Amino acid sequence: MSNAESIPLPRPGVMEIAAYIPGRSKAVPGVKLYKLSSNESPLGPSEKAKQAYLAAAAKLEDYPDGASTELREAIGAMHGLNPANILCGNGSDDILSLIAHTYLNPGDEAIFSEHAFLVYRIDTLASGGTPVVVPEKNLTVDVDAMLARVSDRTKVVFLANPNNPTGTYLPFEEVRRLHAGLPSDVLLVLDAAYAEYVRRNDYEAGIELVSSSRNVIMTRTFSKIYGLAAQRIGWCYGPAHVIDALNRVRTPFNVNAAALAAGTAAIRDRDHLDVAVAHNEKWLAWTSEAIRELGLDVTPSVGNFILIHFPDEDGKRAADADTFLVNRGYVLRQVAAYGLPGSLRMTIGTEEANRGVVDALKAFLG
Ligand SMILES: *Cc1c(COP(=O)(O)O)cnc(C)c1O
Repeated sequence: MSNAESIPLPRPGVMEIAAYIPGRSKAVPGVKLYKLSSNESPLGPSEKAKQAYLAAAAKLEDYPDGASTELREAIGAMHGLNPANILCGNGSDDILSLIAHTYLNPGDEAIFSEHAFLVYRIDTLASGGTPVVVPEKNLTVDVDAMLARVSDRTKVVFLANPNNPTGTYLPFEEVRRLHAGLPSDVLLVLDAAYAEYVRRNDYEAGIELVSSSRNVIMTRTFSKIYGLAAQRIGWCYGPAHVIDALNRVRTPFNVNAAALAAGTAAIRDRDHLDVAVAHNEKWLAWTSEAIRELGLDVTPSVGNFILIHFPDEDGKRAADADTFLVNRGYVLRQVAAYGLPGSLRMTIGTEEANRGVVDALKAFLG
C-alpha cells in the first residue's frame, strides 16, 4: 500500500541545484539587438557548414551515425589525434555531464574553482557528488589551493582553461603541476572551450597531457569559434579506458544528423577559422583597451569575452549599467551567479557591436 502523502523524490543533491540560466536573447522592442551574452561567434558559422546542415534535411527519416565516425575522423585530421580516442556529444555540456555521471559515486568530491563555469556544480550535484569550491587569486585558478583540497574522496577535478566568465588562463606548466599533484585515480577534466582563441606561447589546450597520461580528458566545442551553438556539438579527447566508459553511458544517438554534417564541414573549413581568430584578436584588444580608457577595470582575457568591473562590489552599478545597455540593444551577461555581482561579461562582437557598447558605456558613465 502506498502512502497517499508520498511522492517520488529526486536523489539527494538534485534539489540543491540552481538551474542554469542562459544569457538573455532579447533587448527591448524596436531596438536593434546585439546579443553579447553567451560568447557566440559574431561571424556565424562557415558557409560550408550551413550548406551541409541544409543538405541533411534530405534524410530526416534515418537515424544518424551513432558513433559520429566522420566527424571524429575530421576532428582527428585537424588536430592530429586518433579518432578512436575521441567521443562526440550534444554540446560539450553533454560530455561534462557524462563524465560526472560516469565517474562520481554519491559522496565523491569534485573540485573546481570559485568562479568556474557553473555547469561543473550542476553536474556534480546531479550525480550525487559533493562540490569542493576552491578560492581563486586575481580571478585566476590557484593550483596550490586546488591541490590542498584534494582528499581521499576526490574523484574529478574540473578546470576550464581559459575560464568562463573570467577569461583568465593557466599557463601549461601550471596545468602540468596540477596534474602532477593529483593521485592517479583522480580524473582531470580540461575544458578547453575557448582554446582556439588563445594567443599565448605558454598555453596548451591539453592534447599532449591527455596523450601521455591515463587520468586526463580534454573537452572542446563547436559552439564558440565555429559559430554552431544552435547545433549542440562538443567532443572530448581521452585515454581509451575513459572513452570506453563514456561510450557505454552516453545515449546511443547523442549527436543529431544535421549537427554531424555541419560540424564535419565546419572543422574542414580552416579559412573560416582563421578569419574568426583574427577578428577576435583584433577586437578583444581594442574593446578591452577602449573600456579601460573609460576608467573601468577589465580583466585581461584570452577568450572571446571580457569581464568588466564596476566600482561598487554590491552590484548596483553593474545592474544599472546592464539596464542602460539593454535599453540600447546591447545584451551583456550579469555574472552574480558566478560570485561576481559587480561585473558584467561581454562577448566580443562585430565591430559595430563593440564600438556601440563602448559608446553606450561612455554615455552611462558620463
Ligand atoms: C560555452 C562553454 C562550453 C560549451 O558548451 P557547449 O555545450 O559545447 O555549447 C563549455 N565550457 C565552457 C567553460 C563554456 O564557456
